[in-house]
Amino acid sequence: MSGGGQSPVPAMFTLTFESADPTAVDRLGGKGAGLARMTQDGLRVPPGYIVSTDACRRYLADGAMPDGLADEVLAQLAVLEERSGKTFGSGPMPLLVSVRSGAPISMPGMMDTILDLGLGRDAAVALAKASGDTRFMAELVARFHAMYSEIVLGAVDSEDGVRSVVEQIKADDSAEDAYEGVWRACERALHEDIEESVPADPQAQLLGAVEAVFRSWNTRRARTYRDFHGIPHDLGTAVVVQSMVFGNMGADSGSGVVFTRNPVTGEPGLFGEYLANSQGEDVVAGTRTPDPVVEALAPTVLDELTTTCADLEGSYGDVLDIEFTVERSALYFLQVRGAKRTPEAAVRIAADLLAEGTISPARALRNVSPDQVRQVQRPGFDAGEVDRARSGDRVLTTGIGACPGQVSGELILDPDRANAAADDGRRVVLARAITSPADLHGMIAAQGIVTATGGSTSHAAVVARALGTACVVGASALQVDEDARTVTVDGRTIGEGELVSLDGATGELFAGEFATATPAAATSALSSLLAVSHEAAGCEVFGRVTLPADVEGALEAGATGLVTAVDDVLAATGHLGSLVERLLEHGEDSGAARVAGVADMVAAEFTPILAAVGTVEVGVRAIDLLADESRELLQQTAMTTQYPQLAVPLGLPALIEAQLEGLARALHDSGGAARVHLAVRHVSDPAEAEALRALGQTYGSAPTVGSYLTSPRAVFNVVGVAEHSDVLWLEVRALQAAMFGIPARQLLTAEPLDGYVARGMIGTDPRSAIDPSVVGLLEQVARVGRATGSSGGCQVGMRLSGEVSSEVAATLYGLGVRRFAVDGPEVRPVLLALGKSALGE
Ligand code: ADP
Ligand code: MG
Repeated sequence: MSGGGQSPVPAMFTLTFESADPTAVDRLGGKGAGLARMTQDGLRVPPGYIVSTDACRRYLADGAMPDGLADEVLAQLAVLEERSGKTFGSGPMPLLVSVRSGAPISMPGMMDTILDLGLGRDAAVALAKASGDTRFMAELVARFHAMYSEIVLGAVDSEDGVRSVVEQIKADDSAEDAYEGVWRACERALHEDIEESVPADPQAQLLGAVEAVFRSWNTRRARTYRDFHGIPHDLGTAVVVQSMVFGNMGADSGSGVVFTRNPVTGEPGLFGEYLANSQGEDVVAGTRTPDPVVEALAPTVLDELTTTCADLEGSYGDVLDIEFTVERSALYFLQVRGAKRTPEAAVRIAADLLAEGTISPARALRNVSPDQVRQVQRPGFDAGEVDRARSGDRVLTTGIGACPGQVSGELILDPDRANAAADDGRRVVLARAITSPADLHGMIAAQGIVTATGGSTSHAAVVARALGTACVVGASALQVDEDARTVTVDGRTIGEGELVSLDGATGELFAGEFATATPAAATSALSSLLAVSHEAAGCEVFGRVTLPADVEGALEAGATGLVTAVDDVLAATGHLGSLVERLLEHGEDSGAARVAGVADMVAAEFTPILAAVGTVEVGVRAIDLLADESRELLQQTAMTTQYPQLAVPLGLPALIEAQLEGLARALHDSGGAARVHLAVRHVSDPAEAEALRALGQTYGSAPTVGSYLTSPRAVFNVVGVAEHSDVLWLEVRALQAAMFGIPARQLLTAEPLDGYVARGMIGTDPRSAIDPSVVGLLEQVARVGRATGSSGGCQVGMRLSGEVSSEVAATLYGLGVRRFAVDGPEVRPVLLALGKSALGE
């Protein structure tokens, strides 16, 4: 540890790097806190002090510099002079400083920094003498004048003709003449733009610069940035005043930026750029091309940088972004902060740091977000190419994103041809004006589906989600001409067989194909992090599957069980339509005849699924012919007219029996290793549960039976229902919808809730949080579940559909829920979110 001496300045608003508490980021800003920390860790940091955010907030409130601040800022210079052995404003060694902005939350590029401040006439002349290089001094004067003019005075272009004056100056020219010449040239250029002048007095320069940094907090771009990122406007910025070091003192000097690991791939090893004989801003300005750090630095400097980066990574517990300058072979550290990184890098780095023993499991999980996990596991387009496609003219149109996924393939307009193309191993994007159940084989064959009409509950959308196929619906600009085998968008015609791409999250349809990155999801890095998370949380997480091909992926993701639904499976395999037709045809027959064939279908379709699952538990939801989601698939209206009894869960017991029988046969045919339960939706009465159990018992002990709870009444009766059930799932979305009185499908879509949220008409957004009115109900269910679960009775879990927000996961974990069922792609993000909750994020 170096320093530690107390500042002799009675400080209200300022703190030296030695005396500041590095954890007080709110007061010091991120930059100041990092500099304080590095200083106190004994790293070579040019001495400096921090004007706290308190001063900025006072300035912003009063519109004037707070009383005493100017005195304090100037008095701190004496400390800097003592520590650096230099003098501010005069020789023999003049002290120059940088004045740097630094908010508590990083706002890159939003605010400003002024370098080389402190050059009055005396200081400039002394600097030329001390460095033996008048030209060096002239460069600094010109550089400082330009920065001050632009940042403090607001000039737009203040460098006209200055360069040529500076270039004529030689190292051994008279310092006095050179200073006068350059300063006058600078003033001339500035006065062509504005009337004000840069003060010649270094103290006035310093105070002007501090005030300018305060002011920059409220520039339009800074406000816009904060609005966009949800950063409060009242934090204020700190100001760092720091002794300058010079990277432009020759070949053994330079400046650079280094990441402690590769922020794109996460690979270990320093990754960064260095520009010899330059000041930091030259790297950013892009006028000269920097070199890779590991090649350009002198070996001793590189060694020191490498060791220090490793130490800092250890003490921060994260990958870092470090700015440094080398002055005559001495390495100075100028900034440290957490590095921005790709999702892939985030996962790899957290796992590596954990494996190296650098960070704790809790910290490793904190360094990765569920969203990063989602991005990592989704095969996707090359991001740069997408940006270029958007700014070029490759976006054909934008519809409604119905099922996420980024895919490219040949445009095909007909399901038979799509199927044939897929059989040939070609990738297909199926485009239809609208889809119908007759298109199913083509939809299964396609990598992506786009329709001109239909909303997010249309046939195409519902089937695509059941299949997990990327899908855009309602692309209304699309004219599909089946006869000509072309689609036309805004006068642009694309023929069948041409390549197109779609993004099922954003709803965009693109011309041409994109390079696709395969998911790195199965990497050992992600698996090891999730294993840690899983162990910490101790939760069961069931993943939803529809096709036998989904099973392996879900188990690989870490699902401890699987859930599926009879209607989804039959829809995906093309049998639901015939089941519905049969039900409608045999309307007058007895119950058994109506459901004839259902058991066969279930047995046939579930045998391969159960064969694939091994010994894990599989929850099967019974057919729900009146579900919202079935609206288009199932000719629901006809169904309701013909079968009014379907309005209650056990209205058509024969249908449940047929499913039980089918599952029992599938279980037998698949070898009987899986543990299977059938759960019926909307049960809310203990008597229903009892009747259901009686039905189940006619098929022996497997499958077991239970219910999906969807209503407040079911929660009210949960004790009694649980008593007669082997398993219960509470559908959280359905319960929220019931409490809001909003149809459940509306809790999946943007409108109308987005508008409501924007207008502040809804306290909790039920799509991403649990409403307070629901929390108590969930708690009741969780409590019952803990009691029955631990005594070997009913297993109670929560079914979460769609993307699960971290907030929802944390709330449920906090209520003691330890059993979850989620959509397939959500298994990993939810495992992570639960681990974070367990380890106290
Ligand atoms: P930003 O917040 O935009 O990163 P900084 O305050 O970090 O701005 O300043 C930008 C660059 O200016 C730094 O990367 C560094 O190269 C240079 N710089 C800042 N302070 C000093 C200093 N005391 N000595 C030398 N160079 C400095
Ligand atoms: Mg910086």
